[in-house]
Amino acid sequence: MPTSAQDRRQVSHKITYQAELDPGFGEHIAKMAYGEKLFSCIQCGTCSGTCPVSHYMDYTPRRIIAMVREGFRDEVLNSLTIWLCASCYSCTVECPREIKITDVMYALKQEAITTGVYPKRYPIPVLAQEFFHGVERSGRSSEAPLMVKFFLKTLNPLGMLKNSPMAMRLWLKGRLPLFEKGMKNKGVVAILLRAAKQAGGERQ
Ligand code: SF4
Ligand code: SF4
Repeated sequence: MPTSAQDRRQVSHKITYQAELDPGFGEHIAKMAYGEKLFSCIQCGTCSGTCPVSHYMDYTPRRIIAMVREGFRDEVLNSLTIWLCASCYSCTVECPREIKITDVMYALKQEAITTGVYPKRYPIPVLAQEFFHGVERSGRSSEAPLMVKFFLKTLNPLGMLKNSPMAMRLWLKGRLPLFEKGMKNKGVVAILLRAAKQAGGERQ
């Protein structure tokens, strides 16, 4: 029985043939992450050693950098690593080649969401997507509808059931409105989000 993300990766190990690689992937991500230095990585492993959550990742930061360079697009975008990154910047500070590894992780998340290639029922990208759509629609996040969608999309109805007593207590105290609430001038938020999306697209 696999006990960690790395064990799970080993259990589902699959050979990738050269023809399946995306040779332009490294350049593309390097451009998005201001990371011309990406290709100067010496695979020293300092980033993995300093990362506080690498134990839970399916690929360590060092491996992610190597895989990005070599064009393992699908493996990288489907990995849990990019979603587990806590953006603590330790790796970026310690890297002897000054590679902005944290920015690479951000760029990979952005690429995953834009192209729709990410672990489909994994809670972190699902929550990020649903939060974004909620704010885009109504100008603010509404917890109850957000959590219902989150549990349904991660196929975790038991999680919803388990959390329902707490949700009920919050609702009784008026802290958890059941329906999506809008705000004044919500169009302004939508304009801001569209501009941010466009800026992200232009950087690509
Ligand atoms: S610390 Fe920098 S040079 Fe070393 S493996 Fe990580 S990215 Fe590469
Ligand atoms: S920024 Fe992300 S990858 Fe880098 S050390 Fe922190 S958690 Fe690990």
